[in-house]
Amino acid sequence: MKRAIRNSKDLLAALELDPETLQTSADGEAQFPVFAPLEFLSRMQAGDPNDPLLLQVLPRVQESEIDPDFVPDPVGDAAVERAPGLLHKYTGRVLLIVSGVCGVHCRYCFRRHYPYGSAPKSIERWLPALDTIQNDPSIHEVILSGGDPLTVVDEHLSDLVDRLSTIAHIKRLRIHTRLPVVIPQRVDEKLCGWLSESRLSKWIVLHINHAQEIDSHVVHAIRKLQQTGATVLNQAVLLRGINDSAEQLGALCERLVDCGVLPYYLHQLDRVSGAKHFEADREKGLAILTQLAKSLPGYAVPKYVQEIAGQPSKSPITPD
Ligand code: SF4
Repeated sequence: MKRAIRNSKDLLAALELDPETLQTSADGEAQFPVFAPLEFLSRMQAGDPNDPLLLQVLPRVQESEIDPDFVPDPVGDAAVERAPGLLHKYTGRVLLIVSGVCGVHCRYCFRRHYPYGSAPKSIERWLPALDTIQNDPSIHEVILSGGDPLTVVDEHLSDLVDRLSTIAHIKRLRIHTRLPVVIPQRVDEKLCGWLSESRLSKWIVLHINHAQEIDSHVVHAIRKLQQTGATVLNQAVLLRGINDSAEQLGALCERLVDCGVLPYYLHQLDRVSGAKHFEADREKGLAILTQLAKSLPGYAVPKYVQEIAGQPSKSPITPD
């Protein structure tokens, strides 16, 4: 992560692109800096201004456009915080904001304005959240999220998971992470060691939007995660100009299932401020899903969903 590219000028220079033709947003970059690891950069095509990986991390000039429908907290995280860093939205499961740090900065991220500074950073500060989980037997699953939970060192992560494991009514551990994709070397012996040993049923949800993100290092990382006994799923976001075609999404889904990863969700973009230029029409998303259902086995077709603040689950997107 120390070697990652941290500004758009260096990003464009590394890809031999002219900053005059690909205008960037200084405001957007000031609010949410560029962060692109070299391992992810190595999968981008030099000289291609439309590279689908580059477009996910480059603050385009459109980020500065204001639209009142695009807001800082589109999914209502602030309203469901039960203890510092503990979000309780859905029955039976809670989400811990384990880290405010990510292995990559995705420009469309719905948490790009999240106040990570207030999330706990040590085990002592996690105690109120752990107490809340301990005292609520209706909770069976804990989701480690962020930021990216795998940016936390293994000693702290395994300590947190060990403490969760001592709570008898916790059966499942879910980890939402993009690190095995953007820096696959993060999946090392130490991480796999404590994951393998955990008594909890393990679910790892990756975030991959385009088949070009999956190189041989990512395949290797996925295999190692699977060998810990974890079930590996993927969630993608429908992104205009990046994966909003049956061809692109079909290629992603096939690549995923060939790695033994289930394409779990395709999310309609959350309307976070600065991300309007990524939004694709729901009608287009539905048409793509219809195409995929005709050409892929059922397990390879993701559920097309949207998160609506206050709803008891993700809302399926279906034809009107
Ligand atoms: S890795 Fe996830 S949490 Fe981090 S910026 Fe990307 S989408 Fe957001």
